[in-house]
Amino acid sequence: MFPLLKYSEADVETHLVSVSADAVRNSLAKARPDWFDLLNLISKAAHPFLPEMRRVAQTARRRYYGKTVSVYAPLYIGNTCINSCRYCDFRRQHTGTARRNLTIDEIRAEAEAIHETGIDSLLIVAGEDPNVNTVEHLAAVGRLLKSMFSYLALEVAPQTEDGYRELFKAGYEGLTCFQETYDQSLYREMHPEGPKADYDWRIGTQLRAGCAGFRILGCAFLLGLGPWQHEAASLAAHAFYLMRECYEAKVQFAFPRICRVDGGFAPPCEVTDEDLELMMLAFRIVFPQCCMTVSTREAPSFRDRIVQTAADNMSAGSRVTPGGYAVLERDGDVAQFTLSDNRSAAEVFAAIRANGQEVAFKTWDNRI
Ligand code: SF4
Repeated sequence: MFPLLKYSEADVETHLVSVSADAVRNSLAKARPDWFDLLNLISKAAHPFLPEMRRVAQTARRRYYGKTVSVYAPLYIGNTCINSCRYCDFRRQHTGTARRNLTIDEIRAEAEAIHETGIDSLLIVAGEDPNVNTVEHLAAVGRLLKSMFSYLALEVAPQTEDGYRELFKAGYEGLTCFQETYDQSLYREMHPEGPKADYDWRIGTQLRAGCAGFRILGCAFLLGLGPWQHEAASLAAHAFYLMRECYEAKVQFAFPRICRVDGGFAPPCEVTDEDLELMMLAFRIVFPQCCMTVSTREAPSFRDRIVQTAADNMSAGSRVTPGGYAVLERDGDVAQFTLSDNRSAAEVFAAIRANGQEVAFKTWDNRI
């Protein structure tokens, strides 16, 4: 569980199985729902309330985000990695993966290809390779891209607070760091070696970035590793903690689900489409002001539906291989995960508009 949570897994389980239909109704009617309301809304007792949850979540979403959906694209700048995450094809031991780190010129070419689609927000992604993705290198990438995009976020190895200060100065404002699992023993099992084996270092990432000035603090667990309701309880506790400690920043939720692929990692704990929708609606109801993104791992129909009720942010036209947008892909290149939504950016924009929503290319202007 999230280490600062004063309730054990057993306490969470006891609460989850005791939730009544009346408790769900009360949580849905509350003006300021709390952590226990989140538990009520992700319990089995909440499933019959899905239509009502969609309505309440949509109202909450509209209050803070109107009818806009902000879009971004991930830009993978490298896939060398010294970690050994059991569920990832970028892990050090996976020899079948062609490794590549883009040069600054290649990064510029990728960025130009994304920019041509109209997208104005970028998420820079890289594996953990301290010899390549140093703070200096990431800062140079940030300075290059900041002149082309309104918003830059990072999904790279956790850094020190001083490192984040440098990166914030270089133009990054958002950070995503999946905890993968909040369960300490499962975490050890999934991350047997490498710097990522340090649970405490990883869980302090958002706090260090928030202290360094980052404006968006992305949190998530990897859906499929552990029991999703327990993980969601920890994620909510983590978010409440960050909202208190980094009150000038915004927490952003993501719900990346491991998709089963032939010969790939088989997630031990399945999360169904209905579980995922229920969880996203519950988080929107309890955290109406927080950002929420829906992954490209999900099918177009699910993504188009959930951005109307819960998520306010989605990727479009994503490529999850370094060089996937403009630099030619080589045979044998492996993406970090399998995309379920292969639509182009223009097709995603059209789907958003067809739902009566607007595509928000830019939601923030940093005048500092
Ligand atoms: S999940 Fe991230 S840290 Fe782990 S092996 Fe994959 S790229 Fe490396």
